Amino acid sequence: MNLISKFDPWRSSVCTCPSKLTLNPYTGCDHMCVYCYASSYIPRFNDCRPKKNLITRLRKEAAKLKGETISMSNSSDPYPNLEIETSLTRKCLEIITEQSCRVQIITKSNHVVRDIDLLRKVPSTVSITITTDDDAVGVLVEPKAPLPSERLEAVETLVGKGIPTCVRVDPIIPFVNDKPESLMETIAAMGVKHVTSSTLKIKPSIWPRISTELPNIAERLKSLYFKRGERMGGYIFLPKDIRFALMATIGLLAKKHKLRFGTCREGLSCLNTAPCDGSWLLNGRLGL
Ligand code: SF4
Repeated sequence: MNLISKFDPWRSSVCTCPSKLTLNPYTGCDHMCVYCYASSYIPRFNDCRPKKNLITRLRKEAAKLKGETISMSNSSDPYPNLEIETSLTRKCLEIITEQSCRVQIITKSNHVVRDIDLLRKVPSTVSITITTDDDAVGVLVEPKAPLPSERLEAVETLVGKGIPTCVRVDPIIPFVNDKPESLMETIAAMGVKHVTSSTLKIKPSIWPRISTELPNIAERLKSLYFKRGERMGGYIFLPKDIRFALMATIGLLAKKHKLRFGTCREGLSCLNTAPCDGSWLLNGRLGL
C-alpha cells in the first residue's frame, strides 16, 4: 500500500476539497480528542505509531512526484506528541519539498512552527485547528493536544513568518464552542485570511466518549442527533436547519472580519466564499 494516495475522505459526496494527494506519517494520534472521527476506522487509534519503514518508502514514492499538492495529514495529526521525539514529519517534509511539491499542513499542534524553514521553501499553507479560545474547554475536548492558547501563539508566529495560515474552527459542538466570536476576532487581528468550520458528526465510536467526558452536554445533544439528526454516509449530522444556522453565523463573522470562509463536509457549499480547505492561499506566496 502506498504512503502517498489520492485524497478521498470518507468517499463522501459532501466533500468539496479540490483534488490533491495525502500523506500520513503516523497511524493513530495521541491527542485524544473526544470527537476524533479517525478513531472510528483506525484500530488502536490512540496508540500513535509511525508508518512502517516510513522514510525508505517515502523516498521511493517521492522520486515519482512532480510538484503535486500534498496534504499532511488527513487521518491523523502530522504533529502528535510523538513527533517531538522522532522528527519524522520533518524528515517527510525534507523529502517532499526536494520534489518541489506544494504542501498543506493540517494540525492541532503548535510544534509545526519548528518546520517553518522547510515550509518557506515551497508554496505551502498551514491549517491549525482551534476549536475554542478557552484553554479549559480545550483541555476537556482535546486533552492531550497543545492548549488553544499555544496554538494561537503558533498562528501568530506562522503569519509573522509569511506562511499563509488558516484556522479550522472545527468541529462546532452545540453548547460547547458554538459562540466563537472572540476567537474569530483574535485570529483576524493576527492576520489569518481563511477560516474553515464544520459541525460535529456522530459515529458509534464517538458517542460513548462524548457521553463519558461531557455527560451534561451529551444529555442535551441526544435528541438533536438521535431524534432529529440526518444520517449520511455512516455519520449522524445535526438537523440541517441547525447546521445551516451555525455555519451561517460563522460565515457572517468571517465576513465581518474580512476572512474567507469554507464549510467542511456539510453539504452547505452555498456558504463558502473560498475553497473549503484554504488551498487558494497556496497561490498567494511562491517558495523563496
Ligand atoms: S488531533 Fe485529529 S487525529 Fe488526533 S485525536 Fe484529535 S481529531 Fe483525532
